[in-house]
Amino acid sequence: MSDPAYKLELQDISRVYDGQAVVDGLSLRLNAGEVTCLLGPSGCGKSTTLRIAAGVDKQTTGRVLIDGQSVSGHAGHMPPEARNIGLMFQDFALFPHLDVERNVGFGIKSSRSSKKARVKELLQKVDLDGYQSKYPHQLSGGEQQRVALARALAPKPQVMLMDEPFSGLDDRLRDDVRDATLELLKAENTAVLMVTHEPEEAMRMADQIALMRNGKIVQAGAPYNIYNAPVDKAAAAFFSDVNVIKGLVKNALTETPFGQFLTPGMVDGTEVEIIIRPQHLKLDFDRKGRGPNPTVAEGVPARGMVKRARYLGHQSLVEFMMDYDQSVLKVLMPGVFLPKPDTPLWLSMRRDRCFLFKKSV
Ligand code: ADP
Ligand code: MG
Repeated sequence: MSDPAYKLELQDISRVYDGQAVVDGLSLRLNAGEVTCLLGPSGCGKSTTLRIAAGVDKQTTGRVLIDGQSVSGHAGHMPPEARNIGLMFQDFALFPHLDVERNVGFGIKSSRSSKKARVKELLQKVDLDGYQSKYPHQLSGGEQQRVALARALAPKPQVMLMDEPFSGLDDRLRDDVRDATLELLKAENTAVLMVTHEPEEAMRMADQIALMRNGKIVQAGAPYNIYNAPVDKAAAAFFSDVNVIKGLVKNALTETPFGQFLTPGMVDGTEVEIIIRPQHLKLDFDRKGRGPNPTVAEGVPARGMVKRARYLGHQSLVEFMMDYDQSVLKVLMPGVFLPKPDTPLWLSMRRDRCFLFKKSV
């Protein structure tokens, strides 16, 4: 029995095209009022998953449930219009020949007066009350997007499915439209499945991120957890530049220029990769305050030389060459930090921010 508390449930969904599984055994559950972002590189199967949830495509195997009821599986396949879902895609075409009032009211099946009231309520929420008699071509991109959102939400769908809905907007508009959208979706208590290939967008919007690769969900969880406890190197690297420090296991320890790491249970000779984001490395002009027994969090500072430093605005990016093996690590320092090339410095790492993995093949 499935739990009817889930507004949308995908159970072990696969989709095969030309003998190739583009979605491969994917399961996902969405609660009311929660935003889940399907995040992953282009071609990993995000849109296919969304189309299956919508019912415009049909899975090869698996089951889709909405509010605990099977809408697609062995028992039959319900078309999109019967699923009580809202849809929003990148090219969110409004009906050009209908004004805002009639665009938003399009899917509402109720009396004229309550329809008018619902349209007004939604337009107020997207800050477009008063625009009822305008036509799509009289609106800016951001305004059209907000009308499209109001239209999708007008019939009070339990589930909202969105595919890269903000990618057509210019940068300046996007943040505002995103925030307004999120606010409205929360106010309507809608369960949302949103596709994006942008990690910042997923971090900003999602209660839950489902990270996809090759048709599978490789990790799902709150943005904080996905960012700070990635399952592998690729999951870490999807969110920011990362540095990779290589090591070899000997007597359950891995030696690095930053001191030893405990690698219990790993056999001697295992190749290990320690992953650290550039903002979790720190440069100093001296070994300041670090005695012979540095704390675990600080580790041992390592000696090296500045290769290049660039100012990025609120932080500086330093490429730093390690004396140890001539490898170059990227370091993000807050504010202005622009040492000249060839300046010798000490590099330390936030050991609590490292991710240690067996080297992947
Ligand atoms: P994403 O949205 O993550 O970029 P898609 O779900 O659109 O990825 O596509 C995943 C893979 O499935 C791609 O390799 C794509 O070429 C393939 N694909 C999608 N739709 C079809 C189709 N109708 N026929 C054949 N292959 C398809
Ligand atoms: Mg896509």
